[in-house]
Amino acid sequence: MNPNILILGAPGAGKGTQSEKIVDEFGVEHVTTGDALRANKQMDISHLDLEYDTPGEYMDQGELVPDEVVNEIVDKALSEADGYVLDGYPRNLDQAEHLSNITDLDVVLYLDVDEDVLVSRLTGRRVCEECGATYHVDFNPPEEEGVCDECGGDLYQREDDSEETARERIRVYDENTQPVVEFYDESGELARIDGEQTPDEVWTDVKATIEDRA
Ligand code: ADP
Ligand code: AMP
Repeated sequence: MNPNILILGAPGAGKGTQSEKIVDEFGVEHVTTGDALRANKQMDISHLDLEYDTPGEYMDQGELVPDEVVNEIVDKALSEADGYVLDGYPRNLDQAEHLSNITDLDVVLYLDVDEDVLVSRLTGRRVCEECGATYHVDFNPPEEEGVCDECGGDLYQREDDSEETARERIRVYDENTQPVVEFYDESGELARIDGEQTPDEVWTDVKATIEDRA
């Protein structure tokens, strides 16, 4: 059976970058609530009678999409996966409790990156609109500017990677998601990895940790 892996870290810590490698190496599904929500930004959630009527309105401001919307996405994705790397969830303690009711984790990774590094990582991020591969204009540039090395697709900048929204997302992370990191740390499950190394060095540590624990 393939491992169930949780990858935690602030926005820009490198979760998506490392998840791509985990998928290739361990044959698991990449379950990412951010991608799932981006594909459903205009979904009508007015029947839930929440502050906004679509996920996109929360996302464009850097706020969390309400739990009832996100939990449903995760329930479905995990029930269909033979092993997964879960990226972008849980983002608060209620989501962490929900997760503990629906699945068992084999490995909990935490990519540790200082806050002052995160903003430049987010504002320089570029993503392939075809295959979702992630680049950085300075730290991990594609061979040809604006073109994906993997599939030749066009690269774009996410709307929420503006400096203002990036800073708000980091604030929301500190308030809501840092307690989730502490929760897994206290339970003794958390494998802390230095996320400020180069992507290849981070990968060496990530791979060794999964092989050791899964
Ligand atoms: P997350 O999924 O945690 O938000 P990403 O994997 O999308 O983070 O990475 C954010 C940005 O930082 C991307 O532009 C990516 O290319 C770059 N990046 C990822 N890992 C590193 C690293 N170890 N060193 C420098 N830049 C990195
Ligand atoms: P990400 O791609 O992980 O950076 O997520 C982008 C945006 O999607 C976040 O800023 C939130 O608005 C929303 N989002 C992603 N995952 C969650 C989650 N687990 N809970 C609430 N909102 C989420």
